Amino acid sequence: MTSPVLPGAALGVLGGGQLGRMFAIAARRMGYRVHTFSPEDDSPAGQVSDRQVRASYDDLDAVRRFAGGVQVVTFEFENVPAATAEAAARQAPVRPAGAVLHVTQNRLREKGFLAAAGFPVTPFLPVRSAAELHAGLAALGTPAVLKTAGWGYDGKGQVRIAAAGEAAAAWAALATDEAVLEAFVDFAAEVSVVAARGLDGAFAHYGLIENQHRRHILDVSVAPAPLAVAAPAIEREAIDLARGVLEALEVVGVLCVELFVTAGGKLLINELAPRPHNSGHLTFDACVTSQFEQQLRAVCGLPLGATELLRPAAMANLLGDLWQDGEPDWAAACGFPAVKLHLYGKSQPRPGRKMGHLTALDTSAAAARDQALAARAALASHPAP
Ligand code: AMP
Repeated sequence: MTSPVLPGAALGVLGGGQLGRMFAIAARRMGYRVHTFSPEDDSPAGQVSDRQVRASYDDLDAVRRFAGGVQVVTFEFENVPAATAEAAARQAPVRPAGAVLHVTQNRLREKGFLAAAGFPVTPFLPVRSAAELHAGLAALGTPAVLKTAGWGYDGKGQVRIAAAGEAAAAWAALATDEAVLEAFVDFAAEVSVVAARGLDGAFAHYGLIENQHRRHILDVSVAPAPLAVAAPAIEREAIDLARGVLEALEVVGVLCVELFVTAGGKLLINELAPRPHNSGHLTFDACVTSQFEQQLRAVCGLPLGATELLRPAAMANLLGDLWQDGEPDWAAACGFPAVKLHLYGKSQPRPGRKMGHLTALDTSAAAARDQALAARAALASHPAP
């Protein structure tokens, strides 16, 4: 049995975004040191780390030096190149392993893996040319969604196709040589299961979280997912699917399974994220162990923590759009005593960019959602300069 990586040790994080920032906050609270590696300076994760290394993911010498200085490496950005994960793995354990990254950073590999292992996925076909797109549309019908196979997130690299006649324009718009065509799912709801698997194979999950997207970007999450969205049987099935995925991929760490619930109560997996997920941000304030501490426990080989939800909770994202009329009114949002403000330390509030989020706790998920939305509306009121 490998001995656990204990407090005082240095942990390495590949990627510098908000997921690494919240991981670092959880790790430092427990007395670990955190080193981050990312191509940017003053990154959200780097700002709260003991050490930030700025280098390109392709600089394998820098990757080796970085990994040589820590006891375990994890990542917060799944598009880290495979060669980077391999170079790091020669110096320190990389958890989850590079093989998990390899599957999940390409939609075709991910869907192929899920379908081959018998997990329910949105009907899909690989597309590598305009001609294949025509054929795919004939097979799957319209509406459909065309997504780049690699480097897609938050709706980037996606085109909705309403009619077969739009195929040529859609293929040109995506500007890629490998894509996946999916049937459009007329879903009743979107849900996710954030789960963890320890080095010893232990499994933990945070129950079912309901997610609402706006312009393909997560907008609001609530936990527990309301019964109207998911009956207990659906929740059990979603958790079983998540357990199956983490086991099949032999994940050591946190992985989020995003799913559609169809009108007929069927579950279809839309996407996997092999790391803490935006829909699990509410666990930071609302659960005994947050998804970030859980990632730390898993990758350090420690026992997993309790995932119990202390109170119903909601999370509302703060996108850069909120800054369009000036600095948001932070004091007004803090006027909601059960709402927690999280900001990621990003200086450029571009439209669609995730700048922070609010978490609200209340007696029901619906009430928590109302509070989070009211606090977000108060932020948008913008104080007079
Ligand atoms: P993705 O980047 O694949 O997670 O997609 C982002 C969001 O776009 C999803 O959460 C859905 O709201 C929407 N979406 C993606 N794929 C589909 C689909 N096949 N059918 C319906 N909506 C979709």
